[in-house]
Amino acid sequence: MSPGTASGTSDSSSVGTTWNGTVPVRRKGHNEGEEKTEGEEEEERSSDEGFMGMTPLLQAHHAMEKMEEFVHKMWEGRWRVIPHDVLPDWLKDNDFLLHGHRPPMPSFRACFKSIFRIHTETGNIWTHLLGCLFFLCLGIVYMFRPNMSFVAPFQEKIVIGMFFLGAILCLSFSWLFHTVYCHSEGVSRVFSKLDYSGIAFLIMGSFVPWLYYSFYCSPQPCFIYLIVVCVLGLAAITVSQCDFFATPQYRGVRAGVFVGLGLSGVVPTLHFVITEGFLRATTMGQMGWLFLMAALYITGACLYAARIPERFFPGKCDIWFHSHQLFHILVVAGAFVHFHGVSNLQEFRYTAGAGCAEDGAL
Ligand SMILES: [Zn+2]
Repeated sequence: MSPGTASGTSDSSSVGTTWNGTVPVRRKGHNEGEEKTEGEEEEERSSDEGFMGMTPLLQAHHAMEKMEEFVHKMWEGRWRVIPHDVLPDWLKDNDFLLHGHRPPMPSFRACFKSIFRIHTETGNIWTHLLGCLFFLCLGIVYMFRPNMSFVAPFQEKIVIGMFFLGAILCLSFSWLFHTVYCHSEGVSRVFSKLDYSGIAFLIMGSFVPWLYYSFYCSPQPCFIYLIVVCVLGLAAITVSQCDFFATPQYRGVRAGVFVGLGLSGVVPTLHFVITEGFLRATTMGQMGWLFLMAALYITGACLYAARIPERFFPGKCDIWFHSHQLFHILVVAGAFVHFHGVSNLQEFRYTAGAGCAEDGAL
C-alpha cells in the first residue's frame, strides 16, 4: 500500500523522480535500512482492514491523505530540473530562462535542500544569502566599535544600525523568497510580498544615516525628509501586498516603484548641494559615492525590468548571469557603496566634532 514498502533495497540511487506526468517512484522503506517489525505489519494490516470498512467518500479522503504524504516524501528525495514550458502558471516568471527550473516542491525541507543544487534560483539564493551574512558580520563589527570613535556613540550607532537592519532584512527576505518560491502558490505569494517589502526597508534604512549626517546641523529638514521617505516607503510596502504586484506583467511597475522611492532622495540631495555648494557636497557630503550607489541600483533595476541579457540569448543564461542574478549582485554592491559613503560621513562628523557653524551648515 505505502509507496515506501515497494522494495527493501537500500540503494539510495533508486529513489527517483521525473516530471511530465511520470509519477516518481520511491523504492525505499520510509526509515532507511529498517526492516518492518511484526507490530508494524500488524498495524498496517489493521489499517487496511479499517480502510475497507470506510464509506467511499472516506476512502477517497484517506487515499488523498496518503497521496499527499507520498508527495511530501517524494520531494524530499531526488528531483530533476524541468523546462519553463511545463511549469505551472504560478511558477512561470521569466520565459527567457528556458530550462533548469525547480519543479513545485511542497516541502520546506526539500526547498532548503535545493539551495545546494544547481538550478535557475541557485545564483539568486547565494548572492543574497552571502550578502546577508556579510552585512550581518559588518554590522556586528560596526556596533562594537569603541565609543570614543563617535561624537554621540549611542545615537550614531542606532542611526547606522537602521541601515544595517534594512540591508539584513532585505537580503534575508530575498534569499528566503528565492528558496521557498517553488513550494506552493500560497507560500510563494507570501514570501514575494516579504521580498518586495524588504527592498522598501533597505531604501528607508539607507536614508536614515545619510540624512542624519548630511543635515546634522539642520534637524528640521532632516526630520521632514525622514517622515517623507517613511510615508513613501510604507506606501510601497502597501502596494507590494496586492497580489497583482508580483505578476510578470507588473515587472516594470515594480522596478519603477522602488526606483521612484530611491529617487525621492533627489530632493534632499538638491537641498544639500544648494545650501553647501557643489564642492562641499562632493567632498564632505560624499555625493560621489551616493551617485555611484544610485547608478548601481538603477542599472540593476533596468536589467531586471528589461530582462537583460537573457532576452538576447534565451536559454543561454538559465543558470548563471541572468538579469535577476545581476540585479542581486548590484543591490549588494550598491548597499556596500552606500555604507562606505555613510562611514565617510561619520568620520567627517567625528573630525569636525559636535559643533555646528552659526549659519547651520555642516
Ligand atoms: Zn530577487
